[in-house]
Amino acid sequence: MKRIGVLTSGGDSPGMNAAVRAVVRKAIYHDVEVYGIYHGYSGLINGNIKKLEIGSVGDTIHRGGTILYSARCPEFRELEGQRKGIENLKKFGIEGLVVVGGDGSFRGAEKLTNHGYPTIGVPGTIDNDIPGTDFTIGFDTALNTVINAIDKIRDTATSHERTYVVEVMGRDAGDLALWSGLADGAESILIPEAEYDMQQIVARLKRGHERGKKHSIIIVAEGAGSGVEIGKQIEEATGFETRVTVLGHIQRGGSPTAFDRVLASRLGARAVELLLEGKGGRTVGIQNNKIVDHDINEILSVKHVIDEGMYQLSQELSI
Ligand code: ADP
Repeated sequence: MKRIGVLTSGGDSPGMNAAVRAVVRKAIYHDVEVYGIYHGYSGLINGNIKKLEIGSVGDTIHRGGTILYSARCPEFRELEGQRKGIENLKKFGIEGLVVVGGDGSFRGAEKLTNHGYPTIGVPGTIDNDIPGTDFTIGFDTALNTVINAIDKIRDTATSHERTYVVEVMGRDAGDLALWSGLADGAESILIPEAEYDMQQIVARLKRGHERGKKHSIIIVAEGAGSGVEIGKQIEEATGFETRVTVLGHIQRGGSPTAFDRVLASRLGARAVELLLEGKGGRTVGIQNNKIVDHDINEILSVKHVIDEGMYQLSQELSI
């Protein structure tokens, strides 16, 4: 393999640049040319493709977002879009592709693979919802952003003796809520994977109040319900002054943590190795601190699950 491509797709996540940098540098180290495909699968269809050099990824390892830009591209879900994409890859002489993104982007990579085009998926999403890896690129940074925000909210919550509901990202996956809730000692954590009992939440808040607690924090993953609605219900049921903060897109941005930079570097480099070993249709990941790879079709047929033990622990520590 003498020429490969790299693109970032779907929701951006901090550390995507570090992954792209690793792909570019690792490939060039092995005398392989690298082409950047801009704006995700849209760029593949429109031929928005440019050669990347060693210097193209200089000064990017610490930057959030993605220098290749990202996009959502409904056209690529259709066979016609995929055909156009493959035509462009062939036109540029690109023999293998690395896709950095979430599970939607992996479905596109799976399609390319099934059309016989060697593609490797690198998990980049703040949701941490990709099977076959303990962590996705960007999760650690987003988690730290969330806990920094909650620490600040906690200060004002204590001063005013208020209850705070904090809504974090996670439409289908509660990892960000669960980890930030544990890291911040939240009273309750509401995640899409588990039913919640409002009476139990209210009882826990009242118990804390009776013990003399000055503030309470409830974390809600967006997929578990609207923070605003849940805040209203809590205020009505407890009579405690309750405020709601929806953290929103600040969770996607910022300089990646050391963990995400190192993870992205290791995964990006492994993706290139796999292509050079003649393997396509794989996803890379980290499991028990080892870099691993899996069949992309298999990974996409498995559903991400929450760590039950951690969820149970969060309940036990917030009695
Ligand atoms: P993420 O990768 O963050 O999960 P999306 O779900 O929006 O983000 O997916 C990103 C892009 O991947 C989509 O805009 C589309 O171009 C492509 N994609 C998603 N699902 C499929 C699919 N089933 N087949 C082909 N391409 C897909």
